[in-house]
Amino acid sequence: MIYEFHTAEDVLKLTHQFKLPISEIAKRYEGERSGKSMVAVRNKMKQTRDVMYSAVKKGIKSTEKSPLKITGGDAKKIYDSLKNLKDMMGNKLTVRAMAYATAVGEQNACMQRIVAFPTAGGSGVVPGVLFSAAEHFKAGKRKLIRGMFTASATGLIIAYGATLSAAKGGCQAEVGAAVAMAAAGLTEMRGGTPKQCFDAAAIGLKSYLGLACDPLGGLVEVPCIKRNAIGTQVAIGASDMVMAKVISFVPFDEVVQAMQNIAQIMSPKLRETALGGLAVTKTGNMIKQKLGLKITTEL
Ligand code: SF4
Repeated sequence: MIYEFHTAEDVLKLTHQFKLPISEIAKRYEGERSGKSMVAVRNKMKQTRDVMYSAVKKGIKSTEKSPLKITGGDAKKIYDSLKNLKDMMGNKLTVRAMAYATAVGEQNACMQRIVAFPTAGGSGVVPGVLFSAAEHFKAGKRKLIRGMFTASATGLIIAYGATLSAAKGGCQAEVGAAVAMAAAGLTEMRGGTPKQCFDAAAIGLKSYLGLACDPLGGLVEVPCIKRNAIGTQVAIGASDMVMAKVISFVPFDEVVQAMQNIAQIMSPKLRETALGGLAVTKTGNMIKQKLGLKITTEL
């Protein structure tokens, strides 16, 4: 295959060789890998965008609580705060990104349809950042799709070099990976170079290395949904840094290696088992009790 890649270094070589952005390399690789035409690959990504978009639009209006009533309604609160932006420290782009990310997480918690991009737990960051940025730039749908392809390539590199599974790598593999993907996608949408895209991904992922997966009651709600909201701010910040000509001293591929190294030495208690961290706090145990799960006393 001509466009096959496993690392950011592979992608950078291909972008240099063919004078193409990361998004185009990702699209062509997917075409080669799946045997589909470029039109079919692009249409599939458009479908993905439409499902993501409808989760966002439903979520920002919803006041529905999750079955255990521990999350729900926050996306609307954040989105409604855009009417009084003078009371917020963030700007329209950043506050809206948090609202959108929260909307997707809340829809997931209410068993509604979302796109696991890259996973259900980390599904809010990419749409949060990319949709809000697209509105900010008044960008055409084409630019948004380019951001999504670049985000996909970044996620694929993490999957090849480390993992996207919280059971293997903790939350660095879910929200951390999503932050790296969103940072890279946003940077391409802003006209950054392929190297800047991966530098933004590196800065984003470095900020999440070692993050525990410790969901209350094993449900993808707390802390997951707010982690996605805050993840949008990290992704936007990482992209801003590289657009200001800051570089990542550690290349993205090495950050992915570091993530894999941490995954291998991370306690199983912090890998989606709800046996450590926030899951075993007093509040975490209260949720376990409601679910009829065994209380964990050790911290
Ligand atoms: S805490 Fe665990 S379940 Fe929640 S988003 Fe992170 S990895 Fe996913």
